[in-house]
Formats: sequence, C-alpha cells, structure tokens
Amino acid sequence: MTDHAGTGHAELTASFTELYGHAPEGVWAAPGRVNLIGEYTDFNDGFVMPLALPHAARAAVARRTDGELRLHSTDVPGGVVSLRVEELAPRSGHGWAAYPAGVVWALREAGHPVTGADIELTSTVPVGAGLSSSAALEVVTALALNDLFELGLSAPELAVLGQRAENDFVGVPCGVMDQMASACCTEGHALYLDTRDLTQRQVPFDLEAHGLRLLVVDTRVKHSLGDGAYAERRAGCEAGARALGIPTLRDLPYDGLGDALGALEAAGVDESVVRYVRHVVSDNHRVERVIELLDAGDVRAAGPVLDDGHRSLRDDLRVSCPELDLVVSAAGAAGALGARMTGGGFGGSAIVLVEDSAADTVTKAVVEAFTSAGHAVPGVFPAVPSAGARRLVPAGPAA
Ligand code: ADP
Ligand code: MG
Repeated sequence: MTDHAGTGHAELTASFTELYGHAPEGVWAAPGRVNLIGEYTDFNDGFVMPLALPHAARAAVARRTDGELRLHSTDVPGGVVSLRVEELAPRSGHGWAAYPAGVVWALREAGHPVTGADIELTSTVPVGAGLSSSAALEVVTALALNDLFELGLSAPELAVLGQRAENDFVGVPCGVMDQMASACCTEGHALYLDTRDLTQRQVPFDLEAHGLRLLVVDTRVKHSLGDGAYAERRAGCEAGARALGIPTLRDLPYDGLGDALGALEAAGVDESVVRYVRHVVSDNHRVERVIELLDAGDVRAAGPVLDDGHRSLRDDLRVSCPELDLVVSAAGAAGALGARMTGGGFGGSAIVLVEDSAADTVTKAVVEAFTSAGHAVPGVFPAVPSAGARRLVPAGPAA
C-alpha cells in the first residue's frame, strides 16, 4: 500500500535489495511537521507547539562493518553516494546526502560506534515547503542507526544529534524544534515543547472530534530574501536579551514586556530589536494561551490566537511575504477561524483552522485569491496530527 508515508514497505525493501544486493535489516519512518504556534522562539529558549504530519521520510537500512556508508534516495536523480565514515567532515558538500551523512558524523562524534551502513531513503514530505523534510531525513536515519547499533539513545537525544548534523555538518543554523517534532510527536496530539530543557507534554489535539480541520497551504514559493533573515533575526534577539541583561528572551515574562520595550526604546536600542523582542515574548505567551485553550477543550478559540501570531510575524518580526499574507487574509474573509504562516516564512506554508464544513469553501477562496493575484496554485492538504518516528519493519513496540 502506498500512502502519505510513501513508497510501501515492500517496494522500498525491493529497491534496497536491487540497489545493494542484499536485504535491509528493517524499515523506519520519521514525519515532517507543522508548527501550530511559537515561531522563531526555539533559538530563544522558548516554547513551540508542533504536530507531526502524515507525510514522512522512510529508510530501509542495513549495518556495515567495513566503514562504508552508502546512501541513496528514490526522490533524487543520480546513483548511490559512497562515503567512508572515518572521513566524514563538516561542511564538505555531498548535496542532499549531507543530511544522513551528518547524522552518522554526529553519532560518531558523540562516541557511538557506527561502522557503516547501506541506506535507501524515500519521502513524501514536500521539500523546501517549511514542513521539515530535512529533519525527517535526519531523524529517520538517527532512529534506524540507534536501533541497529543498539545505541540506546532516547528520542530527544536522537533529535539533538539530528540538529547537530544540520547545524554543524550541513551548515544550517536551525533550532531543535523540527527534529524534536519528528522524533517525539504522537498521533492525535500537538507537542508542547520547552526548548530550554526539552521537557515536553503531549497535548490532545483531536480536530476531528471537534468538527474542525487544520489545513496546510503550501504557497510553493521561496523568496531569496529569507536567506540571511534567520541569522539577522537571531542576532537581533540576542542583542535584545543583552540589552535587557537577561540570558535569553525566554527570561522576560510576558507581564514585563511593556516595561521592557519602554526601557529598550529609552536606551536607544535599534527599533528592529524592539520589534523582535515583542514578537518572541508575545509568541511564547501565545503558546501558553493555546495550551490553556486546548486543555479546556476550546479549540475554536485558538483561531484568533493564530491570527495574532501571524500579525506579529508579519509586522514585528517581518518574516512573512505577500503569498503568506494572502492565504491568511483570503482564508479569514472566507470564514476560517484563524490562520498564520508557519515555519521560517518568506514563502513555504501557512496553516488555516477551519470548521470541517467550511474546509472546501475556504480552500476554494484561497486558490481563487492566488489565481487572481497571478500566483501559482497552492498545495492544500489537512494536517492530521500523526505519529512521530518509529520502526515499521519488523513491526515492534514504538521506540
Ligand atoms: P525543509 O523545509 O523541507 O526542511 P530544507 O531546505 O531544510 O527544507 O531541506 C530540504 C533539503 O533536504 C533538500 O534540498 C534535500 O537536500 C534534502 N531532502 C529532503 N527530502 C529529501 C529526499 N526525499 N531525498 C533526498 N534529499 C531530501
Ligand atoms: Mg529543513
């Protein structure tokens, strides 16, 4: 069977066997994610609230003991990438293969005896849509190697190693949210994560039971403006924390925000820094607010909080773009309960909370707004809160 989890087990096992001349020892899966609320907070020690998508990366894997690491993806043209585990070095290229290779590097750097592997990957997570196809690849690789080499690492430990692979080996300065979401989410829940100490709570998020749907709208655009923006926002947030004399913006409580902003302005701190502080502290607060609402079973009331979050990302952090703003305005005008950009912005995806009965109307309105504005038709699909990383074959207890 083929579904959102990608090529069926049998096909992936068959293509592995054809490629490498022997059978895999197992098949693993790790999902992409959307973030419900809490954006640009994870590098400020703050709160995030992602959920796993049904879309996932899968890996068929077998151990090797000869130091060879052979990597292949069914989604990328080109043959097998063959590397030597002892020669893996940060930022040495390898294109897409740097993500799984980086995981092997990070495991070995941490002292784990990974002596090589044959890996066949496939994924249904849209690439570059802000849905963390890269984290899915890292986490599925980390989980497979953890099982096969019996490393005994926990899901959060695997997530941190995946982040290390992306930060240090690939060279992308991402926070830990994406890998934690892929490794730790559970079906029917959003993951409330404190990125300071990685404490987490599974918050029930059963949209169907409430007659609701969460739509993901993939704008299919990626503006190059975003390239330096992440580092600039990160530096601005750090400058804000320094000016306030606190370790990170997480340490500024929401009820102290007004005074803090006044103090920053009075001290002549750059106005962009003031805006970044306002975004991060208010978005941390919005995570807490959404959790209260979900815990109280009042899921609909989270809609306006999503709208507020979008305004903050658009006006204070300034990481939105016309296409993302258009999703939010068109969805709102068509009766959505709330909507916001999700992920890093400057393109990628937005989420829209709708009544089940309004999903088609809202989808049509968004697509029409895109067509009238001359944009390409966006991809729209429901975000069903799905399982995190797991072993699929042989089937066994969840890792
Ligand atoms: P995203 O928001 O999807 O995580 P990134 O730019 O962080 O976007 O990661 C996308 C990169 O991850 C791709 O350019 C590719 O190198 C790698 N990648 C993702 N999915 C696959 C796949 N199925 N096969 C090979 N490489 C992949
Ligand atoms: Mg990514």
